[in-house]
Order: sequence, then structure tokens, then C-alpha cells
Amino acid sequence: MMNFELSQEQEMVRKVVRKFVDEEINPYIQEWDERGHFEPSVMKRLADLDLMGVCIPEQYGGSGMDYNTLAIVCEELERGDTAFRTAVSVHTGLNSLTLLQWGNEAQKQKYLIPQAKGEKVGAFGLTEPGAGSDVASLKTTAVKDGDHYILNGQKTWISLCDHADHFLVFAYTDKDTKHKGISAFIVERTMPGFSSRGIKGKLGIRAGNTGELFFDDVKVPEENLLGKEGEGFKIAMAALDNGRFTVAAGACGQILACLEESVRYCHERETFGKEIGRHQLVKQMIANMEAGYQMSRLLVFKAGELKNQGKRNTRETSLAKWQACDFANEAANDAVQIHGAYGYSNEYPVERFLRNSKAPVIYEGTREIHTIMQADYVLGYRSDKPLSQMLPAWPYSDVKEEV
Ligand SMILES: Cc1cc2nc3c(=O)[nH]c(=O)nc-3n(C[C@H](O)[C@H](O)[C@H](O)COP(=O)(O)OP(=O)(O)OC[C@H]3O[C@@H](n4cnc5c(N)ncnc54)[C@H](O)[C@@H]3O)c2cc1C
Repeated sequence: MMNFELSQEQEMVRKVVRKFVDEEINPYIQEWDERGHFEPSVMKRLADLDLMGVCIPEQYGGSGMDYNTLAIVCEELERGDTAFRTAVSVHTGLNSLTLLQWGNEAQKQKYLIPQAKGEKVGAFGLTEPGAGSDVASLKTTAVKDGDHYILNGQKTWISLCDHADHFLVFAYTDKDTKHKGISAFIVERTMPGFSSRGIKGKLGIRAGNTGELFFDDVKVPEENLLGKEGEGFKIAMAALDNGRFTVAAGACGQILACLEESVRYCHERETFGKEIGRHQLVKQMIANMEAGYQMSRLLVFKAGELKNQGKRNTRETSLAKWQACDFANEAANDAVQIHGAYGYSNEYPVERFLRNSKAPVIYEGTREIHTIMQADYVLGYRSDKPLSQMLPAWPYSDVKEEV
């Protein structure tokens, strides 16, 4: 069924997040960004507002709302700043939804419930110094030792590295079988041998926390293996289907913020005796932003609808992520252009938007990786079958009956 209207509940959530962003993020974000400061109380406030487990079923501590409500939350958060949408992307998109999809009941009780309630924060450790797009070249190892695994290795560019309590970590349990030898583990920050270190000097998302994870003989109990040994690659790719969805939705919010700032400036600034919005070439930039916003949103909601139906959506999510992030990057570039020299300074937020809009074109699949994926689908080199474990369809009342 196609419906382009937000439900009353979705509209209410949108208003709550917008108010939160306008009152509790926007007044402070420039200072946090300049200081490179991640404000942890924002996560606490997101928990107070029941936004840390938006589409996790209520039985697992979440709000039980649908995927497009998660999209709306991400859009509104990134209208403020990319940092907090990124935090929700890794906490809910990459970590909690992965526990919902692949976790056993004990893992859901121990890790998913506190995460969905926002009592604990989750993150996702896949990338390594020598392994980004090429996941199978990762080097972290997990060696079975009695009823534990011993993890050794290093991750880098991990969002929430210094703030998360739980990490989904991908490591080789069998080096000889390439990506079929990767396994997924739930690692707690408090486990001896684990440490983290933030990265300084980032181009954007400076109000976010990104950095390295180190595993020095970290003893992880066997019950923290997610799925089966060797399923890690499949689990990581399925996690990205959800993470990418939140990134795409957030990009819509980035475009919206560019539009709002640009429209305001178009009415304020005059050249050659008229508002700059009256010049055709400026109108073109505004029109491109609007087109990018509307098209991206449609792609996001289409992917969200497939998720609601419990159907595989790798192709649609990849397309939404690729296009929305490119549109957002272009919108931010044009927003600076519209502001002229003033856009080149932090007197206006558009320079932050431009810096922030670059990472989403790189993370959760670079522009090039998504381009190749889309071409491969069309050419018939790639097709998706339902996974052995799919996320439950929404509404979740059916799940409750099964349990
Ligand atoms: C702010 C930020 C936050 C992040 N958060 C996380 C996180 O929480 N968890 C996590 O695990 N990772 C995270 N990442 C890492 C991110 O996912 C990787 O940076 C991304 O996967 C790309 O990998 P790479 O940087 O190693 O680039 P590479 O894979 O080394 O790519 C370099 C260039 O080569 C191109 N390229 C690579 N392979 C091909 C190909 N086959 N065909 C054509 N072009 C190709 C790429 O598109 C890119 O332009 C984050 C990154 C950033 C910037």
C-alpha cells in the first residue's frame, strides 16, 4: 500500500525531535563543533525521549514504532547536526537492530533491552586500518580457548568509540576461508584488554566521537558470539542495510537544513537591486536542493516500507543511501555558494553542513561501492535472496504472539 502522508504518530515524533533539536542542540552545536566536543548528555536526552530504540519491539525495551518513524527521527536529528544522527545510526541501525535480527534470547535480554531503553550505548566495529570497503582483508582474530574467544587486533574510524558500552566486533575465527571465516562478537568496554582512542583533526562531524579500538587478548565469553561462527560477514552486511537506511534518512535532514538556511539568506541578501533569490542561477541551486530532498525522501520511505514488510531491501537501501548522501553533499556545497563569502566562515552554519556532508558519502559504503552495487543489480551480476534470519515485519504484535 502506498501512502505519502505521515501518520499522526509519525507527525508527533517529528515535532518532538524538531523541538529537541531547536532547543537543545542548535543553540550549542557551533561551540561543540569548534571544540571537537561530543556532548554525552544528548544521548541521555534521546533516551528520555524514547528515541534510542525507535523501531525495536516494546518487548525488547524499544518504542515499537515502524522503520519510517526511525527515518523521520534521523532526518530531524541531522537537520541539527550529523553527529547525533550518526550516533543513532550506529547505536540503533548498526548495533541494536543487528541484535534483534541475529541475537539469541539471552543476548537480547542482556544487551538489546538496555540498549533500546538507552541505558547502554552500542557501537559497531568493522573497519580496520587496512580494511574499509574490502571487509575480508580485516586482520583482527578471535581464537577459541575453552569457553572463551581471545580477541586481538585493532579497529579504526569507529563512531562512539569512547562512549559506547557495547561493541559489535568482527574478527576472523578461520583465516583460511576468507570472508566465510569472519565471526561477530559482542564486546563490552569493561572487558580487560579493551581500549579506545579518539581521532583528532577530522574534517567534519567534529561534535561526534570517532576513533580507534584496541583488543589486546580480550577474553570474550562464547555466549557473546552473535549468530554462528563464520556468519560474521553476512551479519555485517545485514547490519549495513539498517545503518545505511538511517544515513540516507539523515541526509534528507541535511538537505532540509541547507534549504532552510539558503531560503532565509536568499530573502535577506540583495545584489543588483533585488533579493538574490530573484536571480535565476540562485533559483537553480534552490530548485536542485528541493528536488534532491523530495527524491531522497521517496527512496528512503520506499526502503522503509520494505523493511516494515520484513522483506530484503539491500538494493533499495543502497540506492537511497547513495543518492541521498550525494544530494546532501551537493546541497551543502550550493548552500555555501548561495551565502557567498559569508558561507565560507562559521558566521553561518552552512560551512559546518558542507564539512559534515562528506563523511556520509564515505561511510557505510562509499559512493563508488554503491554505484557498483546498483550497476551489478541492473546487469544481473548481483541478486538478493531472503536471509536465513530476517527482521520481524512491522507491526510487531505478530512477534509478541510467537514469543
Ligand atoms: C566519520 C566516520 C565515521 C565512521 N564510523 C564507522 C563505524 O562506526 N564503524 C565502522 O566499522 N566504520 C566506520 N567508518 C569507516 C567507514 O565505514 C570506511 O571509511 C568506509 O567503509 C571506507 O573505507 P576506507 O576509508 O578504508 O576507504 P577504502 O576502502 O580504502 O577506499 C578508498 C577509495 O577507493 C575507492 N574504492 C575502494 N574499493 C573500490 C572498488 N572496488 N571500486 C571502485 N572504487 C573503490 C573508495 O570508494 C574510496 O574512494 C567511519 C568513517 C568515518 C569517516
